Amino acid sequence: MIKQRIAIVEDEDAISRLLQINLQAAGYDARVYDRGETFLSALKTESYDLLLLDWMLPGMDGLGVCRAVRQHKRAEQLPIIMLTAKSDEIDKVLGLEMGADDYVTKPFGVREVLARVRAQLRRAQPGQEDPTGVLRYGDILLDERQRQVWLSGKGVDLSYKEYELLHTLLEHPGWVYSREVLLERVWGYEFEGETRTVDMHIANIRKKLEEVGHKGLIQTIRGAGYRLKTLEEEADA
Ligand code: CA
Repeated sequence: MIKQRIAIVEDEDAISRLLQINLQAAGYDARVYDRGETFLSALKTESYDLLLLDWMLPGMDGLGVCRAVRQHKRAEQLPIIMLTAKSDEIDKVLGLEMGADDYVTKPFGVREVLARVRAQLRRAQPGQEDPTGVLRYGDILLDERQRQVWLSGKGVDLSYKEYELLHTLLEHPGWVYSREVLLERVWGYEFEGETRTVDMHIANIRKKLEEVGHKGLIQTIRGAGYRLKTLEEEADA
């Protein structure tokens, strides 16, 4: 079987070694680049299945690399997982807008990175999606075909847009989505509404989830947007 190839762009040796050793142990071919420029020039001849990309790099930063990859002819679809510092909530929003597919905050556990890598590689392979069309998140179950959400077996009566919003948030628990991104995702590019529309719909979803006994799932991040609490945070609460 051909090994899947992962590029690691990271300037801190200790981190890139840790990632490389663990990815290789998990059966991947992992290459390290300590600068974004080096990786981008390698892309002329090499091809990769996934990119682990540090945000803070000497020279071109992660954001610049992300943008360059998205404009690259053969690599525009390359799944990108950003490595960011814990405090940079805004960076996560920006990374998402610039085309990153996921992010991991430093300091991270290797198991978490491996899980994200596997999830991205699965998503990148057509036909490998969950054939049942069901998304599970703790006690929440979302059925894509029926467009129905259940909480511990109780149906949650969501409107079309509310469902779409919750679906978006559920795809990446922990990610911060700006109101603008949510508007674009759920209402579409041409929609000329206000970001207040998003707030109103989020308020409705919260109310409906509370009615079936689920509180505090969707968090407001001041000045940034909304995110779904991760299961780890739920467990800690
Ligand atoms: Ca760095």
